[in-house]
Amino acid sequence: MGNAADAERPSPALSESPRTTILTGLVAVAAEAWAKAVPPVTRATTNTTMCMNIHHCLSTRAAEVPYDRAMDSLIEPSSLVGLEPDTISISNVDLSLGAGPARVHILKNISLRVASGEAIGLIGPSGSGKSTLLMVMAGLERPDSGEVVVNGTAFNALDEDALARFRGRQVGIVFQSFHLIPTMTALENVAVPLELAGNPEASQRAARELTSVGLGDRLHHYPTQLSGGEQQRVALARALAPDPAILVADEPTGNLDEATGKQIVDLLFTKHAERGMTLVLVTHDTALAQRCDRVVRLRSGRIDGRPAERGIAS
Ligand code: ADP
Ligand code: MG
Repeated sequence: MGNAADAERPSPALSESPRTTILTGLVAVAAEAWAKAVPPVTRATTNTTMCMNIHHCLSTRAAEVPYDRAMDSLIEPSSLVGLEPDTISISNVDLSLGAGPARVHILKNISLRVASGEAIGLIGPSGSGKSTLLMVMAGLERPDSGEVVVNGTAFNALDEDALARFRGRQVGIVFQSFHLIPTMTALENVAVPLELAGNPEASQRAARELTSVGLGDRLHHYPTQLSGGEQQRVALARALAPDPAILVADEPTGNLDEATGKQIVDLLFTKHAERGMTLVLVTHDTALAQRCDRVVRLRSGRIDGRPAERGIAS
């Protein structure tokens, strides 16, 4: 795939950052590793940069934490938006990360339900746990306690490999900093995960998906040959290609100028509406969050106790 472009293929530079090196190194690994390849680099934390194997990182986390349960977070009732069954159901989730004195109790007894096809905007101050909660929903972080059920599948019942497979099929993820593989073309960035998941028409599917986000004429470009907005479109195409039940986006416009960011957000909402996916959008932009069906606020690792807000449907 992409042979014609091989002459231009950027070779991995020794000066790459550890995170980039992790990404490029993972190009060569086997199918199961791919499913884990993008996820571990998403967190600029010790368990990202120090652990190549997310299984190891997750399984070495201490289980016992002296939680403060003085205030329970509210269960956000998905009945607010209709009678659809929940696609995401999070119950009494606690999560701490870090070791020794650096250990931080990040998510505190979080319970949250998101209905099928619902779009929620997740807002809150920096450090309030938004990204961590998103990682828990996506199965990239396992909570210390509590339950996460996505599209009827309880994560607790899955081992790491099964969880990675589930994630590959059911969860699309878009990050602020795109996380494309620099030595792969746009087409390869979208097609290779599909191929590794066994899709016999990965290349055609990837081309269709890229065309649908407006990049039909950029299939053989490498990430460095694309603008930020175009790179985020590739990332969105990659997330959408398996036709996931849920799409989670963590500040997807954070690295883009305002006009480009608006185009990406419009595209995100268009795809959400077209496909009926459940969307969880983390943003610090309240106006953007208001475009969702519902706004959920996090504060210091808890869901804000104020009544849930209904946004103006976009
Ligand atoms: P937000 O996305 O709302 O800005 P995060 O979920 O990224 O917040 O982080 C919540 C808190 O957890 C922050 O205080 C952050 O420093 C801390 N944190 C995140 N990851 C780790 C980790 N691996 N080890 C220790 N603390 C962490
Ligand atoms: Mg964050």
